[in-house]
Amino acid sequence: MDKNKLLRRLPAVNDLLEEETAEQLIAEHNRELVVKEIRRVLDEARSEMLGLLAEGDLERAEKLSSKLSPANLLKRLERALQEKMRPNLAPAVNATGVIVHTNLGRSLLSQRAREMVEMAGSHYTTLEIDRQTGERGSRYDNIEELLCELTGAEAAFVVNNNAAAVLLALSALAAGQEVIISRGELIEIGGSFRIPDVMKQGGARLVEVGTTNKVYAEDYEEAITEETALLLKVHTSNYRVVGFTRDVDLEELVEVGRKHDLPVLDDLGSGVFLNMEEFGLQPEPTAAERVAAGADIVTFSGDKILGGPQAGIIVGKSDYIARLKKHPLTRAVRVDKYTLAALEGTLKAYLDPEGVIEEIPTLKMLSLGDAELRERAEDLKQSIKQSINNLLSDEGFSVEVEKDISRVGGGAYPLSELPTRIVSLRWSAGEIDRLAAAIRTSYPPVFTRLADDRIIFDVRTLQSGDEKIICRALELALPEILN
Ligand SMILES: *Cc1c(COP(=O)(O)O)cnc(C)c1O
Repeated sequence: MDKNKLLRRLPAVNDLLEEETAEQLIAEHNRELVVKEIRRVLDEARSEMLGLLAEGDLERAEKLSSKLSPANLLKRLERALQEKMRPNLAPAVNATGVIVHTNLGRSLLSQRAREMVEMAGSHYTTLEIDRQTGERGSRYDNIEELLCELTGAEAAFVVNNNAAAVLLALSALAAGQEVIISRGELIEIGGSFRIPDVMKQGGARLVEVGTTNKVYAEDYEEAITEETALLLKVHTSNYRVVGFTRDVDLEELVEVGRKHDLPVLDDLGSGVFLNMEEFGLQPEPTAAERVAAGADIVTFSGDKILGGPQAGIIVGKSDYIARLKKHPLTRAVRVDKYTLAALEGTLKAYLDPEGVIEEIPTLKMLSLGDAELRERAEDLKQSIKQSINNLLSDEGFSVEVEKDISRVGGGAYPLSELPTRIVSLRWSAGEIDRLAAAIRTSYPPVFTRLADDRIIFDVRTLQSGDEKIICRALELALPEILN
């Protein structure tokens, strides 16, 4: 058969439009969209064909031509439309065991927080209005009282994220002046948040004191000049100096600050409200403890261990907070109503210390005990086995429950290990990475760990319904991989 004949065999746009499937798709979406996608599908088919013809591979071109039947092209069309209408920001299964997984969106919201977001999206709200006078109010009023109650601070407010909180505090309190910080705290946090760069951006001059592993209160005192505006303490979230070390704790630094009439800014990082020892983790300073220790301003993230939306929470002394609120940057880093709604919903849970761990998904995942993890892992193992057995007799797959380690994530607790149970999937007859990639690119995507030629499903970070999604992803992926 000659080249042109092969090309002419491709149906025309109108031919496909007359098919019943196309009519259904038009009813479901709309005509314009369907026509556009048909054009695209046909263009792609034509380029595939032209590619083979250019290579002079007539045999494969003939084969392709029979694959490009109207029925198959309509299938392609259906898939293309389905993919187009699916959210690009897709719901994902987190089987990595990293609880505060920054790349997967950090924290899941509690039901109360989700309901608040839904409310804020479907109603006008009292975002920035004073109900007594009917005049304009402050968007931070609703949240400030709650934050003060939970942390014991005099004043509070919220910005876009903790990076913005630190930037704003430095800009408002130290622009054009000096800020003293220990060398051991000049850290970089994932996603290129570098303390020295943030200082520069905030217009402050960095004065480093001490050495990488040791610093004393006298080091700070000796560095204080007429130009000093602020003493900065940064939680070395994702990094630890161990061994021969000496740190100046917040209390000591506050004392230095008081003596020289300088404010102390404490970048706490994670923002913990509970005693972390209850979770089998090392103690972490809580926001309330830092306020009580006398920090003038404490900043932390809303979506790390706190378990809320992305936000930078700022609590501290009224006069300093007032200076931050008045700074022009505040408008640029302000939070929207959804953040405020989700944050209020999250924080309300903390008013009830008995119920909070159950209510906040991040805390719940942190607190899961071995009995529950084991039961979940056994269940998942059985389901995965069944999915594989339904499709194949024995293609060298083995599924086991094993002990392993989950991580807190979000740059918190770099050294802490949370004992967990995993389901491991091995495949002696093929490349397991290909299977991992296939379930990652299916919909909804499933993210796992890969280690020692195993796919690892850590059940700690799975949510209800995820087991089914994992099994379906495997059922879809296996036949493709094996072909
Ligand atoms: C995570 C972290 C930040 C950045 O917080 P974001 O909310 O991600 O902007 C800043 N400082 C410390 C110490 C952190 O741990």
